[in-house]
Amino acid sequence: MKKVCVVTGGSSGIGLSIVKLFLAKQYQVFNLDISPSDFGEFCQCDITQVSQVSQIINDIAKQGAIDVLVSNAGIHFSGSIENTSEDELERVFNINVKGAYAAVKAVLPVMRAQKNGAIILMASDQALIAKNNSFAYNLSKAALASMAKTTALDYAQFNIRANAVCPGTIETPLYHQAIDRYCEKSGTNKAEVHAEEAALQPLGRLGQAEEVAELVYFLGSDKAKFITGSLQVIDGGYTAQ
Ligand code: NAD
Repeated sequence: MKKVCVVTGGSSGIGLSIVKLFLAKQYQVFNLDISPSDFGEFCQCDITQVSQVSQIINDIAKQGAIDVLVSNAGIHFSGSIENTSEDELERVFNINVKGAYAAVKAVLPVMRAQKNGAIILMASDQALIAKNNSFAYNLSKAALASMAKTTALDYAQFNIRANAVCPGTIETPLYHQAIDRYCEKSGTNKAEVHAEEAALQPLGRLGQAEEVAELVYFLGSDKAKFITGSLQVIDGGYTAQ
C-alpha cells in the first residue's frame, strides 16, 4: 500500500513542488486547493471552511492511513498595522492560521488511531524575525510556529510529530505577485528589485520551491523520527545575520 500525504495549497509554488516530490517518492498525494491542478488527486477546497476541510479529510481517511499532512496554503499581505484593515487582517488569519487549524484538527483523530503521523506547517522566516510593512503576515506566521510546538507537545504521546518549516524568500508566483505590486506602487524596475532581493541572502540568491520540498519530505519521513516541535529555517542564511 502506498503511503498517503495530504497537502494544502498544492496547486502552485512551494505546494506544487511538494506534491510533485511526494508523488515521485511513490506516495498517494491529495491536494486541497481552491485552484485546480493536474498533479496528485485534486480536492476542491477552501481551507478557511473548517467543516469542508474536515469532510474532505475524513473521506480521504476512509481509504486508509494519512501518513503526512503538509499545511502549506497561505497568502501574503503587505501593510503596517495602520495600513491593515480589519477585513484584511481577518482574511490573512483565516487562510494562514484558521486554514492550518482546520487541516491539523481534521488529521489528528486519524493519526492518533494509527499511533503515527507527521505534520508540517509552512511558516516563514517571518515566524522568527519581523519584516517591515508585513504586520498581518508576520503575526500569522508566528502563530503557525506556536501551533507546531503546541501540537508537538500535545500529540507526542501518540507518536505524532509536528514541525514548522520557515522559508526565507522563495521564487514562487506569490513572490512575483508581491514584487509586481511593490514595483507598481513605487514605480521601480522589477529586474533591479529582484537583484536587490537576491543580494539580501548571504548565499546571494533566492530559494527555489524544490529546495523547500526536499526539507518537507525529510521531515515527513522516518529519517526525521526524533524531530518534533522544531522550527526549520531554510533561508540562504538570511536570519543568521
Ligand atoms: P503560491 O501563491 O504560489 O501558492 C499558494 C497556494 O495556496 C495556491 O495554490 C493557492 O491557490 C492556495 N490557496 C490560497 N488560498 C487558499 C484557500 N483559501 N484554500 C485553499 N488553497 C488556497 O504561494 P507560495 O509562495 O508557494 O507559498 C506557499 C506557502 O509558503 C505559503 O504559506 C507562504 O506563506 C509560504 N512561504 C512562502 C515564501 C515565499 O517566498 N514564496 C516564503 C516563506 C513562506
